[in-house]
Amino acid sequence: MYCDLHAHSTASDGTDAPADLPRLAKQAGLSAIALTDHDTTAGLPEFLDAAKRARIKAVPGIELSADPAIFHTTADDLTEQTPRIGTLHILGYFIQPDAPYLIEVQARLLQAREQRNPQMIERLNQLGMDIQYDEVTRAAGGNIVGRPHIGQVMMEKGYVKSIHEAFSRYLGGQGEAYVRKDRLSAEEAITAIHEANGLAVLAHPTQLGLSSPSQLEHAVARLKTLGLDGIETRHSDHTPRDTERFTRLANKLGLITTGGSDYHGSRKTLELGSQKVPFDVYENLRNAHHQRVGA
Ligand SMILES: [Zn+2]
Ligand SMILES: [Zn+2]
Repeated sequence: MYCDLHAHSTASDGTDAPADLPRLAKQAGLSAIALTDHDTTAGLPEFLDAAKRARIKAVPGIELSADPAIFHTTADDLTEQTPRIGTLHILGYFIQPDAPYLIEVQARLLQAREQRNPQMIERLNQLGMDIQYDEVTRAAGGNIVGRPHIGQVMMEKGYVKSIHEAFSRYLGGQGEAYVRKDRLSAEEAITAIHEANGLAVLAHPTQLGLSSPSQLEHAVARLKTLGLDGIETRHSDHTPRDTERFTRLANKLGLITTGGSDYHGSRKTLELGSQKVPFDVYENLRNAHHQRVGA
């Protein structure tokens, strides 16, 4: 028996509706699935309903983007000069979707994103590309507008040959039109998840971009002091060796382990369930959650 504890829907940047994921998971032979959309719980009610009908265990989740400058604990400490490492994503599991602080955090992130996209489009305009914001919102089709939608319009208009090129040349962290996000601090992300009665798990640690094992251990230990509950050890980006060393680190620091494919539907080539995460990973997570809420 297997589970997949990392999947996205159309509520963020996936291509499958939240209501379709439980059925697809079942078809992929899974016994449990988590929906972990970027910075939103909007898909969870539909997802949970559909999971009941499909008779599959479902975990209401979220994936919060946090500022990787984790040695600064409040947003006020952060400046543009703060050295940053790679990407810091914190997964929240068994969250209560309507928890007030989590709602507040989502509203703040949405507002920041709404300002950021027009800024990136303006930079593309300055680079001579004729792209309008309403074209991008149309490409998003009612979902939260993100860089993939800008990339899609760029591709449709022939400015780039692929979404990959759009990111590597223009929209990615090193790209010419990139605008940095206003982000949550790691502490805010973990607190938001805990206040929603959830468990906070470090997603795909390789994306932190820390090459040395001691740096990684230091960073994860720091996150643990902020309340981190676990590490995602199995992920489509991880080699078997990565999974092994992250598991060792989790054991050393007394953290739980999770795993998932990071499925996005047809936008990326990863298959639901491709990480072959054993079902007991789901059970351990559920038990840890029961312990946390005292159930
Ligand atoms: Zn992520
Ligand atoms: Zn993800």
